Amino acid sequence: MMDNIAKPELLAPAGDFEKLRAALSFGADAVYLGGAEYSLRSKAKNFDAEGINQAVEYAHGLGRKVYVTVNIYARNEDFKRMYDFLIKLQCTGADAVIVSDPGVFSLVKEIIPDMAIHISTQANTTNYRAAAFWAKAGAKRVVLARELPAAEITEISRAAPAVELEAFVHGAMCMAYSGRCLLSHYMTGRDANRGECAHPCRYNYVLMEETRPGEYYPIEEDSRGAYVMNSKDLCLIEYIPQLIESGVSCFKIEGRMKSVYYTAAAVNAYRCAIDDYFNDPKLYESNKAAYLSELFLTTHRDFTTGFFTDSPNELTQIYDGVAESGSDFCGIVKSYDSDSHWTIVEQRGKFSVGDELEFLTADGPGFRQIINEIFDLNNAPLQSAPHPRQLLRIRAVRPVRELDILRRRLPAACN
Ligand code: SF4
Repeated sequence: MMDNIAKPELLAPAGDFEKLRAALSFGADAVYLGGAEYSLRSKAKNFDAEGINQAVEYAHGLGRKVYVTVNIYARNEDFKRMYDFLIKLQCTGADAVIVSDPGVFSLVKEIIPDMAIHISTQANTTNYRAAAFWAKAGAKRVVLARELPAAEITEISRAAPAVELEAFVHGAMCMAYSGRCLLSHYMTGRDANRGECAHPCRYNYVLMEETRPGEYYPIEEDSRGAYVMNSKDLCLIEYIPQLIESGVSCFKIEGRMKSVYYTAAAVNAYRCAIDDYFNDPKLYESNKAAYLSELFLTTHRDFTTGFFTDSPNELTQIYDGVAESGSDFCGIVKSYDSDSHWTIVEQRGKFSVGDELEFLTADGPGFRQIINEIFDLNNAPLQSAPHPRQLLRIRAVRPVRELDILRRRLPAACN
């Protein structure tokens, strides 16, 4: 047991209400979400004022927190409606707003002064003076720039103790400095700094000589093409002690656009890792491979430890466009009857009678089982379900609960 160190907060993305519930079910201490406007993930479903109300009520009912992103780099016209938005936001009881822009910061201070403010990673805080500046200005927390190694984070936490430090520990990385990037706006008209990134850093690029339009010369790093700006995904699950020692008090998982399965599995892995470490650091050490293999089951690009351990080099890039997964997302539990073990599952990927599937459970280690029978809700037996998102009845051999995940390990991940 580690009595003298505070357990870091585990903060998860909530792209919609289902993901929010799954994140909290699998052990997130807090979630962050975007309002219908002013968030940097405008393509996520996001939450209107009523949705934020509902989210806050639900999370607070479980003793957890909700932070709302208002982290666009605002243009003058954005302030016309932001006043109303912030007043409504205050009424929801949200625990903090996440902002990047000093203009937005000052507006929050002016009209909802009691609201806690977290400074977004997009604000690019890379030194202790900047952290102390934000603390003095009234920020409660700074989400550090991703470009920082452990030693510099430690210096910041020692020199700016008045502000909490949050760091991304897992998820997709921008190749642009703190995500401040014009590529998407230039290529597609969708401005990443206003939440509309089309992710052109993930595209496959070719070479064209200017007098021969339409003649494309492949620039092949290998036979899969030239994904010259495609970063690996961040994964710091093997660095929990170092993150804590460096002064980070909140571990943030990226991915509001990812699936509910991704949210559940990533939160589950980090929850287990943090709790194991605080129960017994040796337990954490011995389980590191298991946490990592859990994360390999989710959809991801190859993993990197990013700037935390080193400066990025050619090994932090991936040279194909492929995001891989070690498993298929088959369904999500809607309800479970503990007497009969009948379980209602909403199908998310096809599965059939005879398949060996696995429940990922929030209440303990998951388990695998053969699916012996499938029924629809009218009790008609099925070999497999014909409709996406169809509600199905199967029998779980051990207890499960609402929002647990049903998945199929792919052959390479079957151990
Ligand atoms: S294009 Fe890529 S690097 Fe630029 S903001 Fe979008 S995700 Fe980040």
